Amino acid sequence: MRIAVISDVHSNLHALQAVLAAVDADSADQIWCLGDVVGYGPRPNECCALVRERASLCLAGNHDLGVIGTIDLALFAGEAGAAARWTRAALSDDARGFLSDLQPAGRADGVELYHASPRDPVWEYVLGPEQALASFAATSAPLVLIGHSHFPLALSLEGMRVLGGSAAPEDEADLAEGRWLLNPGSVGQPRDGDPRAAWLLLDTGSQRASFRRVEYPVALTQAEMRAGGLPEGLAARLTHGV
Ligand code: ZN
Repeated sequence: MRIAVISDVHSNLHALQAVLAAVDADSADQIWCLGDVVGYGPRPNECCALVRERASLCLAGNHDLGVIGTIDLALFAGEAGAAARWTRAALSDDARGFLSDLQPAGRADGVELYHASPRDPVWEYVLGPEQALASFAATSAPLVLIGHSHFPLALSLEGMRVLGGSAAPEDEADLAEGRWLLNPGSVGQPRDGDPRAAWLLLDTGSQRASFRRVEYPVALTQAEMRAGGLPEGLAARLTHGV
């Protein structure tokens, strides 16, 4: 089975549409979403509708939970807080209903999924070996999928050592050996210096994972953000993927 793993769409409809076109071109059988469908971007309702229609599994992220009121918006600082309040006001009843049914952790055959980390599915950033080791210790499945940091990552556990690190476009991971912790990167707000939308193709037959990037019309999303009155810094950063 070929599974497309997406995360951190963040209300960026043009990025999501570009990723879904790439996913379809790659003949993926299923789509899994690791959360943060909304927050930051201009099209929360359309992104919720599309993810609801296309993804067979979807987690809740911290932004999703903040926007629907499950967690306190005071925990979101600066522009993230402003965008979360904007999103809360813009959210349709349908989108709110969709987000309200999601959980920040999930499970599939041989896979554990978390928006942020196994220790803290809502907030913890897994960026280095310490958090990765704790993530492996808190799980038992051969494969652990996480989002939240917006950095593509491919880490493996060998004995008590964590190997690997950030994943470049077109990088492949051979999942046949050992345990793995993978982050597909972000669809709608990449932060690794590459403005293209990120996703991951998981092939359970060949036991391989490939990191993918796809261009999307960044300027269209930025124009929608400026027209909607979202913070300028959130629009500007999309140009550089930071
Ligand atoms: Zn996010």
